[in-house]
Amino acid sequence: MISEVKKGIRGKKKQPGSLVSAELWAEFFRGDRLACARLITAVENHPTIGPEVRDHLIPRLNGAFRIGITGPPGVGKSTVTAALARRTARHDQTVGIIAVDPSSPFTGGAFLGDRVRMQGLSGDDHIFIRSLASRGGHGGLSPATPLVADILDAFGLSRIFIETVGVGQAELDVLGCVDLLILVLQPGTGDGIQALKAGILEAADMFLINKADLPGTETLLESLRFLFEISVRPAADGVPPILTASALRNEGLDDVYTEMEKRIRALLTSGKYLQKRRSLMESEIRDSIRRDLWDRFSALTKAGEDIPAAAERFIKNRRSPYPYIRRLCAQVKIQHRTKRTGREQSR
Ligand code: GDP
Repeated sequence: MISEVKKGIRGKKKQPGSLVSAELWAEFFRGDRLACARLITAVENHPTIGPEVRDHLIPRLNGAFRIGITGPPGVGKSTVTAALARRTARHDQTVGIIAVDPSSPFTGGAFLGDRVRMQGLSGDDHIFIRSLASRGGHGGLSPATPLVADILDAFGLSRIFIETVGVGQAELDVLGCVDLLILVLQPGTGDGIQALKAGILEAADMFLINKADLPGTETLLESLRFLFEISVRPAADGVPPILTASALRNEGLDDVYTEMEKRIRALLTSGKYLQKRRSLMESEIRDSIRRDLWDRFSALTKAGEDIPAAAERFIKNRRSPYPYIRRLCAQVKIQHRTKRTGREQSR
């Protein structure tokens, strides 16, 4: 696969220094679903092509909304996502679904696959479904998720659902890229609320008690309301909407869809959508510079290789690491070059 990337993913007309062929980009921007799927596979398998892919995508982003659907396994996230996607498509929106599956220990690929989880949606032209494997072993989202969402956005889809496997820390991190987060719970998990990561209760914009056909819905509603009364969230955020539905019986989901769209409109008019884009862009710039500086620093000082042994030494000998850190840092001089290269000036 690496050699495929070196040749240029799909096709011969690779631009110098580029990893994705011009042909693939052209097919993608013409709206070819297969090209879209290939591009997603490429970013999943080769995280280093991220910056190049962003270069191409950013001028073509349409401002799709990213909706995170999270919650413990088995509460009905896939069923709810499929139901909301169907409603969204019926309202003339184009929909992308990113469903994250646990990695198979055998193939490293998506375990459950698109078809099983989202039965009945795959024939719909308005809906593009993609499973991503939750690599990294934490059961979280695939690290490529935000980039895949960008791909679907530039592909022209207007609502992108991102469905997680569980509700761990890894998910919370990547869910930072969603505009609206829906936490799905089910009756009989009242005690389970305490077990949820506190962050998820603060981050969720909407709560959905699914499987309202089962006993215990009222009890869970009361527990949630009580939780917000004793303020797990900043008072300014107010009490979030708590809705109930039965995805299996197709009940209550029109209200969930209506509330979702209402919140999306509010995000637009309040300027919060733009604010989020700005803050994500800011983090991307900072993170990318940090990575680049660390790579260069590490290459010069061999710090990456030395640190594990050094850490062990400092713990064993009860010594502060700071003399070591100062010595390492003193080996490298940062120089500010104001004169730009010819290539940069011509941009
Ligand atoms: P996920 O793991 O959270 O994505 O959950 P799934 O969507 O795969 O659903 C898990 C199980 O719950 C499946 O057997 C669904 O048929 C079932 N389920 C989903 N929604 C409902 C519902 O509203 N009521 C009941 N009783 N079962 C449901």
